[in-house]
Amino acid sequence: MCEIKQLLEKNRKWSEATTANNPDFFQSLARQQSPRYLWIGCSDSRVPANQILDLPPGDVFVHRNVANLVVHTDFNCLSVLQYAVDVLKVEHIIVCGHYGCGGVDAALQNNSLGLIDNWLGHIRDLVHKYKADLSGLSAHEKAAKLCEINVLEQASNVKRNSIVREALGRGQKLQIHSWIYSLKDGLLKDLASQ
Ligand SMILES: [Zn+2]
Repeated sequence: MCEIKQLLEKNRKWSEATTANNPDFFQSLARQQSPRYLWIGCSDSRVPANQILDLPPGDVFVHRNVANLVVHTDFNCLSVLQYAVDVLKVEHIIVCGHYGCGGVDAALQNNSLGLIDNWLGHIRDLVHKYKADLSGLSAHEKAAKLCEINVLEQASNVKRNSIVREALGRGQKLQIHSWIYSLKDGLLKDLASQ
C-alpha cells in the first residue's frame, strides 16, 4: 500500500518514463481523445479497464460503478453513453462484469449495507427474475451464474437504450459486447459467444 506522497512520486516517474519512451505521447493526447471503446465495468479496484486490456491512456472511455449496472434512469451512466456514442463515436461498447463481485454477492445476501442496498436492488430484481435458473446451484455457483446474468442483462439494457437505438438506426457502426473477467487468472471471457 502506497502513502499519498509515494503516489505522487510514482506518477512523476511514470510520466518521465512514458515521455522517455515516446516524447510526443502527452502532447498528442492533450490535443484530443479518440477512443474506439466504451468500457462499462465494476468499480472494483481489481478490475481496471486499461490494465486488463493492456491499452494506454486515450484508448478507452470508461464508466465504472458498483456491479457494472446500466440503469435506465442513471443520468451519470446515460451521459457517458451519450457522449461516447454521439460525440466520440466509439465503435464498441463493452459491458464487463467479474466473478467474485462484492456487489453481486451482497445482493444475494440479505445484509443491510446502507444506501447501496437501493443500488443493489437492481441485482436483487435479477435474482427474482432468474429464480429458476439459480435454484439448485451451490452458493459459489449461484454467485458466478448471477455475475454472468448481470452482465448479459446490463448489455441488454445498453442495446435497448434510446441513444444506442438511434445511433444504430442512422447506420452508425456500433457493437455491444458482454464480457466477464476472472480475478483468478486475469482472463476475459465473451459471454455472448458461448
Ligand atoms: Zn464488482
